[in-house]
Amino acid sequence: MRWTGGSALYGTVRIGRVAGVPVGVHWSWAVVFGLFVWSLARGVFPATNPGLDGAEYAVMAVVATTLFFGSLLLHELGHAIVARREGVRIDGITLWLFGGVARLAGPLPSARAELRLALGGPAVTAVLVVLFGVFAHLTRFASAVDGVAAWLAYINVILLGFNLVPALPLDGGRVLRALLWQARGDFGWATVVAGAVGRVIGIAMIAAGFASIEYTGIFGGVWLALVGWFVFMAAGAEAVAASRTRTRDVAGRAGLEAQTRRPRSGRL
Ligand SMILES: [Zn+2]
Repeated sequence: MRWTGGSALYGTVRIGRVAGVPVGVHWSWAVVFGLFVWSLARGVFPATNPGLDGAEYAVMAVVATTLFFGSLLLHELGHAIVARREGVRIDGITLWLFGGVARLAGPLPSARAELRLALGGPAVTAVLVVLFGVFAHLTRFASAVDGVAAWLAYINVILLGFNLVPALPLDGGRVLRALLWQARGDFGWATVVAGAVGRVIGIAMIAAGFASIEYTGIFGGVWLALVGWFVFMAAGAEAVAASRTRTRDVAGRAGLEAQTRRPRSGRL
């Protein structure tokens, strides 16, 4: 699987355009959708909003999962809109197993541009947390509506926190890379360091996932371990790609060329 470059994940179905950006859904998102609807309808909502019937929980679960899907899409659009403003071409947005991916087709112009780009998605998610939170707490709707809004605020907080973990390729890892890039003016070095940090955090997530199965249940623990594995693999792939390009640049024209090398593409 390629982690850099403009191609969509194999098995992605294009569903349309939002704000001029092509949006696709990978088949693995259907699995996530099903798991969310099932666990919300059978476990979460009966616990948070007791006294409703099975059909009401099912409707709440489908609405909540659909709006969560919309939240992920808006997060990626946050990245895409900043990218466009920075003059970086966006190939498209794909929603897949572990959330969303905004594929950049052009080079990142500067460390500051990468920083703004990396924060574009989390900024949107932070706004959604406030909106769903206010909606759930200040309004007096039916229990079902309150329950869905409260869960959406909660899941977006999780999404925000998780995305800001400083592990490449997560947004927090891109923030870390942008800061390192800015500090030394060397994109390749920044990617190698941020990639190493990402791999360490990935291993820690795998360990934490297996260690927490007793408390979070098999699903939560294995999920965390799987995400850790994804972070570990993707952080390694980014660092290897950057160090290869860097080596080639150094071998080719040496010095300044490598120092000012711009990334060709990336995923957010
Ligand atoms: Zn993001």
